[in-house]
Amino acid sequence: MLKDNNFTEGEAFPIVEDFYTIQGEGFHTGKPAYFIRIGGCDVCCSWCDVKVSWNPTIHPIGTVKQIVDKALSFPARAVVITGGEPLLYNLDVLCETLKLNKFEIFLETSGAHTLSGTWDWICLSPKKNSPPVEELFQKANELKVVIDSELDFSWAEYCKNNVSDTCKLYLQPEWGIYKTKLPIIIDYIKNNPRWSISLQTQKFMHIP
Ligand code: SF4
Repeated sequence: MLKDNNFTEGEAFPIVEDFYTIQGEGFHTGKPAYFIRIGGCDVCCSWCDVKVSWNPTIHPIGTVKQIVDKALSFPARAVVITGGEPLLYNLDVLCETLKLNKFEIFLETSGAHTLSGTWDWICLSPKKNSPPVEELFQKANELKVVIDSELDFSWAEYCKNNVSDTCKLYLQPEWGIYKTKLPIIIDYIKNNPRWSISLQTQKFMHIP
């Protein structure tokens, strides 16, 4: 995948889907933004709800120009780059071009790969099976840990101890078990008040 010249130079990417919607999770919940889901992920979370994104070869290729032109067709000047794992690719050119067009740019990443691009906001959603590189812990504006079982609380605390003091901290129930785990997460946050809760409100609103 990364041998393709356009990919290595960051001028084109496999695009799983793109859509203009309302951010449903984390610190920027409720704000409109254009989402671009880049294909390819080697983290392999068992509960992943976008497994279709893992294989980059089955998705159409979008160039930076096509991505930015489409972003310009929507009213909000906000773009969320998500995946898959977008940091499998060099995102410098994409970020530079979006910035030239006055977009705020937001990254959603597991942090498992080296950072590229320049961001207004980095949301780090770390995964135990492929932990973040040190730089991502330090540069994260927001830490969003998915809680799938009670073992994930100690993982969340480990991650909290590695991010900066200004990083916003969220625990988010995995969607498939949120009804059963929600009371436990609520209790945990009440007893550990540096954390806040993040719910996948886009799923309640039935929007992408
Ligand atoms: Fe799915 Fe994200 Fe985990 Fe990759 S990092 S497997 S896209 S949840």
